Amino acid sequence: MEQVVCIGCGAAIQSENPNEVGYAPEASLKKETVICQRCFRLKNYNEIQPVSLTDDDFLRILTSLGNQNGLIVKIVDIFDFNGSWLPGLQRFVGSNPILLIGNKVDLLPKSVKPNRVIHWMKQEAHKLGLKPIDVLLVSSVKGNGMEQAMDAIDRYREGKDVYVVGCTNVGKSTFINRIIKNVTGENNVITTSHFPGTTLDLIDIPLEDGKSLHDTPGIINHHQMAHFLDASELKVITPKSELKPKVFQLNPEQTLYLGGVARFDFIQGTRSSFTVHVSNSLMIHRTKLQNADALYENHLGEMLVPPGPISKEQFPELVRHEFRVKEDKTDIVISGLGWITVNKGNIVVAVHAPKGVNVQIRPSLI
Ligand code: GDP
Repeated sequence: MEQVVCIGCGAAIQSENPNEVGYAPEASLKKETVICQRCFRLKNYNEIQPVSLTDDDFLRILTSLGNQNGLIVKIVDIFDFNGSWLPGLQRFVGSNPILLIGNKVDLLPKSVKPNRVIHWMKQEAHKLGLKPIDVLLVSSVKGNGMEQAMDAIDRYREGKDVYVVGCTNVGKSTFINRIIKNVTGENNVITTSHFPGTTLDLIDIPLEDGKSLHDTPGIINHHQMAHFLDASELKVITPKSELKPKVFQLNPEQTLYLGGVARFDFIQGTRSSFTVHVSNSLMIHRTKLQNADALYENHLGEMLVPPGPISKEQFPELVRHEFRVKEDKTDIVISGLGWITVNKGNIVVAVHAPKGVNVQIRPSLI
């Protein structure tokens, strides 16, 4: 059978997965010319839609970016810094400057100091081999920091093209849609363009000087907590509004279950307080350390949710990470979920998180 391609972007049309490149509903294939859903929305509503790619396709895009001359804007979710990382980005983009933007700042409790978040992001980026020219925080949904981000993009691009990259779910589409509204106003001027050397389409937002801002499809990072849950369960662990910190006074040998997605054990030390920063709708259960394994065994998918009864079958095993916390005010960060602040140091704790999900410590952001 002949391969049908989208008249807008040239992507091969498929009707199986609405979240991947080239999707068009079955019914639309009967028409003489086929346009994919992403181009359709772009043409009619001036709005981009998130699409994702396989790792191989994404590697091709990244490699091509190295041959371009422009500014790379990398969007990460500040609640999922490691899960929204693209390994090897610095190597792939060659000598192009990278502007690192942390999204979803509206979810941080008021007590968090934005400068500390930026400092932490810089350190993490360096650890992962990335040397961004600047680090900014925004809320694509609420608009905080968006004007500064647009000014920074304009300044750092030095008259060249801009390429926006990021993993799925970090809010890249929301970010770009906001830029589209600001840049183009009412004009219907957005186009799609083929990326040299690939069959992949990029959204092309014209800038004043004839250059473009390109949106690249999002990459799926298989270590993102988001991929282990179904859509309704994901809603439970994803914060929707400003986090309300919850304080727990624990004795040693007590355990907190964060739904069924993670577990926190207080192993050794004197009675202490711990502040949990996770989605307000995630239920937290306290139990004795000695009962914790049995509780998980018997109640995952009903009392300890998410995961629910169905996704628990596919849910990765929890892996134990032990930390000897020396300093007061130390955060233990679980990528894609949030963090627990250890208020008093000199204790031993352990966090159990799904296999592949990053857990690490940092000085408190407060
Ligand atoms: P993409 O896959 O990176 O293109 O991500 P989307 O733009 O589709 O956003 C993923 C999810 O994050 C959606 O549920 C958005 O509503 C949410 N989101 C995006 N930006 C923000 C933000 O600044 N704050 C909050 N609270 N949520 C956001």
